[in-house]
Amino acid sequence: MKKIAFFDTKPYDRTWFDILAKHYEIAYFEEKLNRHTATLTDGFDAVCAFVNDRVDAAAIDRMHRCGVQLLALRCAGFSNVDMQAAAGKLRVVRVPAYSPHAVAEHTMGLLLTLNRRLHRAYIRTRDFNFSIVGLTGIDLYKKTVGIIGTGRIGRAFAEICRGFGMRVLAYDKYPAPDFEYVSLDTLLRESDVISLHCPLSEESYHMLDRKAFDKMKKGVFLLNTSRGALIDSEALLDALNNGTLRGAGLDVYEEEAKFFFEDHSDTAVQDDTLALLISRPNVILTAHQAFLTEEALYNIAEVTVQNLDDFFAGKPLKNEVCIRCAGN
Ligand code: NAD
Repeated sequence: MKKIAFFDTKPYDRTWFDILAKHYEIAYFEEKLNRHTATLTDGFDAVCAFVNDRVDAAAIDRMHRCGVQLLALRCAGFSNVDMQAAAGKLRVVRVPAYSPHAVAEHTMGLLLTLNRRLHRAYIRTRDFNFSIVGLTGIDLYKKTVGIIGTGRIGRAFAEICRGFGMRVLAYDKYPAPDFEYVSLDTLLRESDVISLHCPLSEESYHMLDRKAFDKMKKGVFLLNTSRGALIDSEALLDALNNGTLRGAGLDVYEEEAKFFFEDHSDTAVQDDTLALLISRPNVILTAHQAFLTEEALYNIAEVTVQNLDDFFAGKPLKNEVCIRCAGN
């Protein structure tokens, strides 16, 4: 039986893998994968990692020396893997799409909550405070949403926005039919809502920096369910402070790997930017949960097991990540 080491596992990860991967011997580690915990992979044939595992050159070297042949990511993004270092040592597979709808629906959830202050209304009415002062939102109908990245998730989010009667503008490195594409500058200038759905790469790192925020209208809603480092968090705080942003709905944060998926409620979190963001009433931060639906968890397990089966059967790996695509 082939042995697979899972990292950063939570109870919800096991639900489907326990059923679909019975033909593997699985060790579920709660630890995140990094250069230190990579020593746990000794004797394993493959490793299954998630979004906040840090698979740098040292971690890859260690896994390689431990005999690991395959890194099976149970996620779509792979910006946390040093693909140059993996070349010739580990093959890397991923789950390119598990439910674009899950992420798109969560993105709209963030927008609706922020706009109509549902998070504040919930707390008020639980306290029998039935005042609605300070809860005024805007109609989304006929407003302009700017979608950056019109792949699977951006496309699903655009459909939802069109259902709300919104005008959809788009920016993508590789434009496709059925969108009104504009330059990034035009999108930033004209949008009432801006939503990020492109991958993180060297090129897109801090795509929304101070200069980008300066181009936006006053009172924009910013949504990021993609990757934290697409936004310069310090510039984001300034944009919230100076009124450029009406609110920010974030499912990701550039330093999330240190905190997300764990309970830090009993410790003083040493990240002032994160603390300032969370403390603002017009910021909603969820801990990388946009994917978390029953359907997505099933799809993740099904495709990951198929990726493992194909690898061990010597079949072509249709979900392999290659260095060539790592820059995208
Ligand atoms: P996708 O590959 O289908 O689409 C990405 C789109 O971005 C493509 O159209 C591509 O051309 C475009 N793009 C690439 N580089 C760009 C750039 N520099 N500027 C503008 N556009 C660019 O990916 P997807 O399935 O839609 O996922 C999008 C992102 O969502 C992923 O990269 C991942 O980071 C994130 N994601 C988050 C969660 C979550 O739970 N929060 C879950 C899944 C995926």
